[in-house]
Amino acid sequence: MPATPNDSSTDSRTHAESEFGRSFSTSEKPSLRGRFAPSPSGPLHFGSLVAAVGSYLIAKYYGAEWQVRIEDIDPPREIDGAADTILRQLETFGLHWDGPIVYQSDNIPRFLDILESLKRQDLLYACDCTRKQINKISDDGRYPNICRDKQLSFEGEVAWKLRHGKNNYDFFDQVQGQCDFDESLYREDFTVKRKDGLMAYQLAVVVDDIDSGIDHVVRGIDLLDSTPRQLRLYEVLGKAAPLWYHLPLAINEEGNKLSKQNHAEAIEAVKASQQLHQAIAFLGQKPPVALRQEPPEIIIDWAIEHFSLGSIPRQQQIPYFD
Ligand SMILES: [Zn+2]
Repeated sequence: MPATPNDSSTDSRTHAESEFGRSFSTSEKPSLRGRFAPSPSGPLHFGSLVAAVGSYLIAKYYGAEWQVRIEDIDPPREIDGAADTILRQLETFGLHWDGPIVYQSDNIPRFLDILESLKRQDLLYACDCTRKQINKISDDGRYPNICRDKQLSFEGEVAWKLRHGKNNYDFFDQVQGQCDFDESLYREDFTVKRKDGLMAYQLAVVVDDIDSGIDHVVRGIDLLDSTPRQLRLYEVLGKAAPLWYHLPLAINEEGNKLSKQNHAEAIEAVKASQQLHQAIAFLGQKPPVALRQEPPEIIIDWAIEHFSLGSIPRQQQIPYFD
Protein backbone atom coordinates (compact mmCIF):
# COMPACT_ATOMS: atom_id res chain seq x y z
CA MET A 1 0.00 0.00 0.00
CA PRO A 2 1.56 3.33 -1.01
CA ALA A 3 0.02 5.21 1.90
CA THR A 4 2.20 5.90 4.89
CA PRO A 5 0.08 7.05 7.81
CA ASN A 6 2.41 8.73 10.24
CA ASP A 7 2.24 6.77 13.47
CA SER A 8 4.53 9.06 15.44
CA SER A 9 1.90 11.72 16.10
CA THR A 10 -0.41 9.76 18.37
CA ASP A 11 -2.03 12.82 19.89
CA SER A 12 -2.62 14.60 16.61
CA ARG A 13 -6.15 13.32 16.06
CA THR A 14 -7.58 16.51 17.46
CA HIS A 15 -5.16 18.82 15.65
CA ALA A 16 -5.78 18.67 11.94
CA GLU A 17 -2.86 20.47 10.35
CA SER A 18 -3.21 19.54 6.73
CA GLU A 19 -4.32 22.21 4.33
CA PHE A 20 -7.35 20.05 3.63
CA GLY A 21 -8.18 18.92 7.15
CA ARG A 22 -10.36 21.26 9.12
CA SER A 23 -9.31 21.53 12.68
CA PHE A 24 -11.65 20.73 15.53
CA SER A 25 -11.34 19.20 18.92
CA THR A 26 -13.67 16.40 19.94
CA SER A 27 -15.17 18.61 22.64
CA GLU A 28 -16.63 20.92 19.99
CA LYS A 29 -18.79 18.54 18.02
CA PRO A 30 -19.36 19.99 14.57
CA SER A 31 -22.69 19.57 12.80
CA LEU A 32 -22.13 16.80 10.32
CA ARG A 33 -23.76 14.52 7.81
CA GLY A 34 -22.29 11.11 7.17
CA ARG A 35 -23.09 8.35 4.75
CA PHE A 36 -22.70 4.70 3.93
CA ALA A 37 -22.29 4.08 0.21
CA PRO A 38 -22.33 0.42 -0.81
CA SER A 39 -22.30 -0.78 -4.41
CA PRO A 40 -25.05 -3.31 -5.19
CA SER A 41 -22.64 -6.06 -6.19
CA GLY A 42 -23.81 -8.49 -3.50
CA PRO A 43 -25.12 -8.65 0.06
CA LEU A 44 -23.23 -7.05 2.95
CA HIS A 45 -20.51 -9.18 4.58
CA PHE A 46 -18.65 -8.58 7.83
CA GLY A 47 -16.21 -6.15 6.17
CA SER A 48 -18.96 -3.94 4.80
CA LEU A 49 -20.86 -4.21 8.09
CA VAL A 50 -17.83 -2.67 9.84
CA ALA A 51 -17.92 0.28 7.41
CA ALA A 52 -21.68 0.66 7.90
CA VAL A 53 -21.46 0.49 11.71
CA GLY A 54 -18.40 2.77 11.83
CA SER A 55 -20.02 5.46 9.70
CA TYR A 56 -23.28 5.13 11.64
CA LEU A 57 -21.66 5.44 15.08
CA ILE A 58 -19.51 8.40 14.07
CA ALA A 59 -22.53 10.19 12.59
CA LYS A 60 -24.73 9.51 15.61
CA TYR A 61 -21.98 10.38 18.07
CA TYR A 62 -21.87 13.84 16.50
CA GLY A 63 -25.68 14.06 16.41
CA ALA A 64 -25.49 14.00 12.63
CA GLU A 65 -27.69 12.51 9.94
CA TRP A 66 -26.69 9.24 8.30
CA GLN A 67 -27.45 8.88 4.62
CA VAL A 68 -27.41 5.69 2.59
CA ARG A 69 -26.32 5.96 -1.03
CA ILE A 70 -26.42 3.05 -3.43
CA GLU A 71 -23.48 3.35 -5.83
CA ASP A 72 -25.10 1.77 -8.85
CA ILE A 73 -23.11 3.22 -11.73
CA ASP A 74 -21.16 0.11 -12.74
CA PRO A 75 -23.83 -2.22 -14.16
CA PRO A 76 -21.40 -5.00 -15.21
CA ARG A 77 -20.51 -5.54 -11.53
CA GLU A 78 -24.05 -5.30 -10.14
CA ILE A 79 -26.37 -8.07 -9.08
CA ASP A 80 -30.15 -7.84 -9.46
CA GLY A 81 -31.87 -7.30 -6.13
CA ALA A 82 -28.64 -6.61 -4.23
CA ALA A 83 -29.59 -3.03 -3.37
CA ASP A 84 -32.83 -4.17 -1.71
CA THR A 85 -30.99 -6.95 0.11
CA ILE A 86 -28.49 -4.43 1.50
CA LEU A 87 -31.24 -2.09 2.70
CA ARG A 88 -33.05 -4.99 4.41
CA GLN A 89 -29.79 -6.06 6.07
CA LEU A 90 -29.19 -2.54 7.40
CA GLU A 91 -32.67 -2.43 8.92
CA THR A 92 -32.25 -5.88 10.49
CA PHE A 93 -29.00 -4.72 12.08
CA GLY A 94 -30.67 -1.64 13.55
CA LEU A 95 -28.95 0.81 11.19
CA HIS A 96 -31.75 3.21 10.26
CA TRP A 97 -30.94 5.89 7.71
CA ASP A 98 -32.12 9.49 7.55
CA GLY A 99 -33.82 10.99 4.52
CA PRO A 100 -34.34 9.36 1.15
CA ILE A 101 -31.97 6.72 -0.22
CA VAL A 102 -29.74 8.23 -2.91
CA TYR A 103 -29.29 6.14 -6.06
CA GLN A 104 -26.13 7.29 -7.76
CA SER A 105 -27.43 6.30 -11.21
CA ASP A 106 -30.07 9.07 -10.88
CA ASN A 107 -27.26 11.62 -10.86
CA ILE A 108 -25.53 10.71 -14.13
CA PRO A 109 -26.83 13.86 -15.91
CA ARG A 110 -25.34 15.90 -13.07
CA PHE A 111 -21.95 14.13 -13.44
CA LEU A 112 -22.02 14.84 -17.18
CA ASP A 113 -22.71 18.54 -16.52
CA ILE A 114 -19.74 18.70 -14.17
CA LEU A 115 -17.54 16.98 -16.75
CA GLU A 116 -18.60 19.49 -19.41
CA SER A 117 -17.74 22.38 -17.15
CA LEU A 118 -14.30 20.89 -16.37
CA LYS A 119 -13.78 20.38 -20.08
CA ARG A 120 -14.61 24.04 -20.79
CA GLN A 121 -11.95 25.05 -18.25
CA ASP A 122 -9.40 22.91 -20.14
CA LEU A 123 -8.96 20.70 -17.08
CA LEU A 124 -9.68 17.50 -19.03
CA TYR A 125 -8.17 15.71 -21.99
CA ALA A 126 -8.92 12.53 -23.88
CA CYS A 127 -6.69 9.45 -23.67
CA ASP A 128 -6.84 6.42 -25.94
CA CYS A 129 -4.10 4.39 -24.24
CA THR A 130 -4.72 0.75 -23.39
CA ARG A 131 -3.66 -0.77 -20.07
CA LYS A 132 -1.10 -2.82 -22.01
CA GLN A 133 0.50 0.28 -23.57
CA ILE A 134 0.65 2.01 -20.20
CA ASN A 135 2.29 -0.98 -18.48
CA LYS A 136 4.89 -1.09 -21.23
CA ILE A 137 6.13 2.46 -20.67
CA SER A 138 5.41 2.89 -16.96
CA ASP A 139 7.65 1.43 -14.23
CA ASP A 140 5.18 1.82 -11.41
CA GLY A 141 1.91 1.20 -13.26
CA ARG A 142 0.96 4.87 -13.02
CA TYR A 143 -0.35 6.64 -16.07
CA PRO A 144 2.52 8.79 -17.43
CA ASN A 145 0.18 11.54 -18.72
CA ILE A 146 1.28 10.88 -22.29
CA CYS A 147 -1.91 12.05 -24.01
CA ARG A 148 -1.88 15.38 -22.16
CA ASP A 149 -0.89 17.49 -25.18
CA LYS A 150 -2.24 15.32 -28.00
CA GLN A 151 -5.57 17.15 -28.26
CA LEU A 152 -7.42 13.91 -28.99
CA SER A 153 -11.13 14.10 -29.63
CA PHE A 154 -13.42 13.43 -26.64
CA GLU A 155 -15.67 11.36 -28.92
CA GLY A 156 -15.52 7.59 -29.16
CA GLU A 157 -13.72 5.08 -26.96
CA VAL A 158 -11.46 7.35 -24.97
CA ALA A 159 -10.98 7.91 -21.26
CA TRP A 160 -11.32 11.44 -19.93
CA LYS A 161 -8.41 12.43 -17.72
CA LEU A 162 -8.25 15.25 -15.19
CA ARG A 163 -5.05 17.29 -15.35
CA HIS A 164 -3.15 16.98 -12.07
CA GLY A 165 -2.63 19.96 -9.80
CA LYS A 166 0.46 21.57 -8.30
CA ASN A 167 -0.38 20.89 -4.68
CA ASN A 168 0.46 17.98 -2.48
CA TYR A 169 -2.76 16.25 -1.56
CA ASP A 170 -1.68 14.87 1.78
CA PHE A 171 -4.33 15.08 4.47
CA PHE A 172 -5.10 14.50 8.09
CA ASP A 173 -7.20 11.42 8.76
CA GLN A 174 -9.31 11.45 11.93
CA VAL A 175 -8.42 7.80 12.60
CA GLN A 176 -5.06 7.19 10.92
CA GLY A 177 -3.41 10.56 11.54
CA GLN A 178 -1.35 12.41 8.95
CA CYS A 179 -1.32 10.63 5.57
CA ASP A 180 1.39 11.40 3.02
CA PHE A 181 1.81 9.75 -0.35
CA ASP A 182 4.37 9.43 -3.05
CA GLU A 183 4.69 12.47 -5.30
CA SER A 184 3.91 10.22 -8.29
CA LEU A 185 0.33 9.79 -7.02
CA TYR A 186 -0.18 13.56 -6.81
CA ARG A 187 1.13 14.07 -10.36
CA GLU A 188 -0.80 11.32 -12.11
CA ASP A 189 -3.65 12.53 -14.31
CA PHE A 190 -6.51 10.23 -13.42
CA THR A 191 -9.67 9.08 -15.13
CA VAL A 192 -12.95 10.90 -14.49
CA LYS A 193 -14.89 9.24 -17.31
CA ARG A 194 -14.07 5.71 -18.33
CA LYS A 195 -13.26 4.43 -21.79
CA ASP A 196 -16.45 2.33 -21.71
CA GLY A 197 -18.44 5.54 -21.18
CA LEU A 198 -19.22 4.85 -17.51
CA MET A 199 -18.57 7.45 -14.82
CA ALA A 200 -15.36 6.97 -12.87
CA TYR A 201 -15.77 6.21 -9.18
CA GLN A 202 -13.75 9.24 -8.00
CA LEU A 203 -15.88 11.79 -9.81
CA ALA A 204 -19.24 10.29 -8.84
CA VAL A 205 -18.30 9.98 -5.16
CA VAL A 206 -17.07 13.54 -4.84
CA VAL A 207 -19.99 15.13 -6.71
CA ASP A 208 -22.54 13.14 -4.71
CA ASP A 209 -20.84 13.90 -1.41
CA ILE A 210 -20.80 17.62 -2.26
CA ASP A 211 -24.43 17.65 -3.43
CA SER A 212 -25.60 15.75 -0.33
CA GLY A 213 -23.68 18.01 2.04
CA ILE A 214 -21.59 15.10 3.34
CA ASP A 215 -18.96 16.61 5.57
CA HIS A 216 -17.45 13.51 7.05
CA VAL A 217 -16.51 10.46 5.07
CA VAL A 218 -16.04 7.16 6.93
CA ARG A 219 -14.86 4.16 4.90
CA GLY A 220 -12.36 1.33 4.66
CA ILE A 221 -8.65 2.04 4.52
CA ASP A 222 -8.48 0.39 1.09
CA LEU A 223 -9.75 3.75 -0.20
CA LEU A 224 -7.00 5.75 1.51
CA ASP A 225 -5.07 6.42 -1.69
CA SER A 226 -8.22 7.49 -3.51
CA THR A 227 -8.37 10.41 -1.11
CA PRO A 228 -5.64 12.58 -2.74
CA ARG A 229 -7.49 12.26 -6.06
CA GLN A 230 -10.73 13.21 -4.44
CA LEU A 231 -9.00 16.20 -2.84
CA ARG A 232 -7.91 17.28 -6.31
CA LEU A 233 -11.56 17.11 -7.38
CA TYR A 234 -12.68 19.19 -4.37
CA GLU A 235 -10.01 21.68 -5.41
CA VAL A 236 -11.12 22.04 -9.04
CA LEU A 237 -14.78 22.15 -7.98
CA GLY A 238 -13.97 24.90 -5.47
CA LYS A 239 -15.49 23.08 -2.49
CA ALA A 240 -14.24 22.36 1.03
CA ALA A 241 -13.19 18.77 1.59
CA PRO A 242 -14.90 16.68 4.27
CA LEU A 243 -13.25 15.16 7.32
CA TRP A 244 -11.84 11.72 6.56
CA TYR A 245 -12.03 8.61 8.74
CA HIS A 246 -10.39 5.49 7.29
CA LEU A 247 -11.24 2.32 9.19
CA PRO A 248 -9.08 -0.82 9.41
CA LEU A 249 -9.99 -3.63 7.04
CA ALA A 250 -11.19 -7.07 8.06
CA ILE A 251 -9.02 -9.72 6.42
CA ASN A 252 -9.53 -13.47 6.11
CA GLU A 253 -7.22 -16.36 7.01
CA GLU A 254 -5.31 -15.94 3.74
CA GLY A 255 -4.67 -12.28 4.55
CA ASN A 256 -7.06 -10.99 1.88
CA LYS A 257 -9.63 -8.27 2.40
CA LEU A 258 -13.11 -9.65 3.00
CA SER A 259 -14.90 -8.78 -0.20
CA LYS A 260 -17.58 -9.92 -2.57
CA GLN A 261 -14.83 -10.86 -5.03
CA ASN A 262 -13.29 -13.37 -2.65
CA HIS A 263 -16.67 -14.72 -1.57
CA ALA A 264 -16.92 -13.34 1.94
CA GLU A 265 -20.02 -14.75 3.61
CA ALA A 266 -23.06 -12.52 3.83
CA ILE A 267 -24.02 -11.31 7.30
CA GLU A 268 -27.08 -13.15 8.60
CA ALA A 269 -30.27 -11.94 10.23
CA VAL A 270 -30.21 -14.82 12.76
CA LYS A 271 -26.76 -13.72 13.90
CA ALA A 272 -27.53 -9.97 13.82
CA SER A 273 -26.82 -9.30 17.52
CA GLN A 274 -23.66 -11.40 17.54
CA GLN A 275 -22.24 -9.92 14.33
CA LEU A 276 -23.15 -6.38 15.35
CA HIS A 277 -21.38 -6.94 18.68
CA GLN A 278 -18.33 -8.25 16.77
CA ALA A 279 -18.31 -5.26 14.41
CA ILE A 280 -18.44 -2.82 17.33
CA ALA A 281 -15.60 -4.68 19.08
CA PHE A 282 -13.64 -4.73 15.79
CA LEU A 283 -13.79 -0.92 15.92
CA GLY A 284 -11.99 -0.97 19.26
CA GLN A 285 -15.07 -0.35 21.39
CA LYS A 286 -15.63 -2.52 24.45
CA PRO A 287 -19.23 -3.76 24.44
CA PRO A 288 -20.07 -5.91 27.50
CA VAL A 289 -20.41 -9.60 26.66
CA ALA A 290 -23.98 -9.72 28.00
CA LEU A 291 -25.00 -7.19 25.35
CA ARG A 292 -24.75 -9.96 22.75
CA GLN A 293 -28.12 -11.30 23.93
CA GLU A 294 -29.87 -7.99 23.30
CA PRO A 295 -31.68 -6.90 20.13
CA PRO A 296 -29.62 -4.87 17.60
CA GLU A 297 -31.22 -1.52 18.53
CA ILE A 298 -30.13 -1.91 22.17
CA ILE A 299 -26.58 -2.80 21.11
CA ILE A 300 -26.40 0.21 18.79
CA ASP A 301 -27.72 2.53 21.51
CA TRP A 302 -25.02 1.28 23.87
CA ALA A 303 -22.37 1.81 21.20
CA ILE A 304 -23.46 5.38 20.48
CA GLU A 305 -23.53 6.26 24.14
CA HIS A 306 -20.08 4.77 24.83
CA PHE A 307 -18.46 5.60 21.50
CA SER A 308 -14.76 6.49 21.57
CA LEU A 309 -13.22 7.73 18.32
CA GLY A 310 -9.73 7.43 19.79
CA SER A 311 -10.25 3.70 20.42
CA ILE A 312 -10.60 2.80 16.74
CA PRO A 313 -7.40 0.88 15.94
CA ARG A 314 -4.84 2.75 13.88
CA GLN A 315 -4.13 -0.37 11.94
CA GLN A 316 -4.54 -1.14 8.30
CA GLN A 317 -5.74 -4.72 8.66
CA ILE A 318 -7.26 -6.87 11.38
CA PRO A 319 -7.96 -10.59 10.93
CA TYR A 320 -11.56 -11.68 11.20
CA PHE A 321 -12.43 -15.36 11.41
CA ASP A 322 -16.05 -16.21 11.96
ZN1 LIG B 1 -3.18 8.21 -22.91
